[in-house]
Amino acid sequence: MHAVRLKGTAKTLRIGKVVCLARNYSDHIKELGNETPEKPVLFIKPSSSVIGHRETVFIPDFSQDCHHEVELAVLIGKWGKNINAKEALAHVAGYGVGIDMTLRDVQNDLKKKGLPWEIAKGFDTACPLSDFIPASEVADPSNLRITLKVNDQLRQDGSTAQMMRQVPEIIQAVSEIFTLEEGDIILTGTPAGVGPVRSGDQMTAEIEGIGQLEIQVQ
Ligand code: MG
Repeated sequence: MHAVRLKGTAKTLRIGKVVCLARNYSDHIKELGNETPEKPVLFIKPSSSVIGHRETVFIPDFSQDCHHEVELAVLIGKWGKNINAKEALAHVAGYGVGIDMTLRDVQNDLKKKGLPWEIAKGFDTACPLSDFIPASEVADPSNLRITLKVNDQLRQDGSTAQMMRQVPEIIQAVSEIFTLEEGDIILTGTPAGVGPVRSGDQMTAEIEGIGQLEIQVQ
């Protein structure tokens, strides 16, 4: 069982599903040469892929190209289906920092064949998450600096203001497909600058006002 801690509270939430958005920052869509989607592109990481602060990503031996994607993570605090964007933020328990680890070579191969991405996105350790801070402590999740360093070299440097769909619209869209339950997490897409990590690297992901996540790579 994997759980997340809500900082400053006694609360620990058991993680359910991790629903991820792809292609939510236009500069990242351009860098991978993808088309801008009319509807959100969604996939799910299993809760078994989650690791925490100061834990280690293990790159599977069937990939030579494992990429980092830093993302704002949204922790769901209460049950909802077909949630209206106007009421969506009432379903958020907290915010955290996530890294959507992606086996880019495997994903490109799956994409070419029209196959699902789970092998590239859902392998063990593919979902590093920080502790979460209560939503009440985040005045505006739509305007936060989001960065990722590899060995102190800045690789990703964006703002959640660049997200094409913001948190309320994302919750509305996701909950039309998947019922959202307490402990579910949504990863909201990554800004430009994704790239490979190798064994021995150290990643530091940070979102202004939310926290930091340090992860080793092996
Ligand atoms: Mg991603």
